[in-house]
Amino acid sequence: MPKSNMRGLISFVLPVYNESASLMHFYSALSRAIAKKPAYKYELIFIDDGSTDSSPAVLNKLHAKDSRVVIISLSRNFGHQMAVTAGLDYAQGDAVIIMDTDLQDPPAVAMRLVQKWEQGFDVVYAKRRSRQDSLAKRTSAALFYRLLARLSDIEIPANTGDFRLLDKKVVAELQKFGEQDRFMRGLVSYVGFRQTAVHFDRQKRFAGKSGYSFSKMWKLAIDGILGFSNKPLKLIARVGLFFSFLSFAGIVYATTMKFIDPGHVVPGWAFITISVLLMGGVQLIVLGMLGSYIGRIYNEVKHRPLYITASVNDRRQPSTKTRRHTS
Ligand code: UDP
Ligand code: MG
Repeated sequence: MPKSNMRGLISFVLPVYNESASLMHFYSALSRAIAKKPAYKYELIFIDDGSTDSSPAVLNKLHAKDSRVVIISLSRNFGHQMAVTAGLDYAQGDAVIIMDTDLQDPPAVAMRLVQKWEQGFDVVYAKRRSRQDSLAKRTSAALFYRLLARLSDIEIPANTGDFRLLDKKVVAELQKFGEQDRFMRGLVSYVGFRQTAVHFDRQKRFAGKSGYSFSKMWKLAIDGILGFSNKPLKLIARVGLFFSFLSFAGIVYATTMKFIDPGHVVPGWAFITISVLLMGGVQLIVLGMLGSYIGRIYNEVKHRPLYITASVNDRRQPSTKTRRHTS
């Protein structure tokens, strides 16, 4: 929070992936919203995450008419979480607001986040009261948040996306996290400080289609769970124990039957086939689980930069000094 006699700077971190149809409308809505709070200076940091449509041209047009617009162009599509990471690295504000550029996160709500920050909160996340997405998306999200709550070692609030305000001290802490497979909202919970929620109704996407393909969503869900929990690893031992117990019970059963009813032919074919298949399946799942963790270790060991910047339209440098980016 800036001292009351200072004009604070608020940065917006705005990831863009093929949003040419929404960008102008988004920009007008956001400018109208921030005009209602003239007490602050603003910078609008758009991160072009390798868009293949005319989004870069639209962004240049916006910059030409509004010098508050900063454009960070990544060298290819690195994904939403990396785009946000890049935005946070370049943001200079006393507070930073992360929001989508498809108008699903209403700009008016962003200003309500600022009010909470003025009251002294360091993290203000926007929590969805309702959402207009497809049934499949709503169901998978509900399942994901339940699983995450059960497994995760820290408490990550349900029904919140990355739409949130972060005080600059939280941003500074986040910049120390060099991990590759990032689940930003989990990292924000991990950082702590004074956190609170503002409830809102998430809107329909203004135009275009979601940039989150099924595989990107799946990766995000796995990053959320594996990044904040080792419980799946422990689960493996329990599954092993369960099947050892079953096979032990089977041995006892077979031996007892041999004595009680020696003439009886054990109807074993189906049983053996099914148990072999089942065990094969379980072993593969367990190997896959181990593989996911090993893959993440491999990703970290390679020590690659998190994202690559192709260009920045002003002379600013990212505030991080570690290996995070190349340009
Ligand atoms: N986005 C991005 N990179 C991607 C996918 C999406 O920067 O690879 C941006 C996108 O432009 C939007 C935000 O991230 O501003 C959220 O994405 P989207 O609306 O596609 O996801 P959904 O709301 O459907 O979950
Ligand atoms: Mg969206």
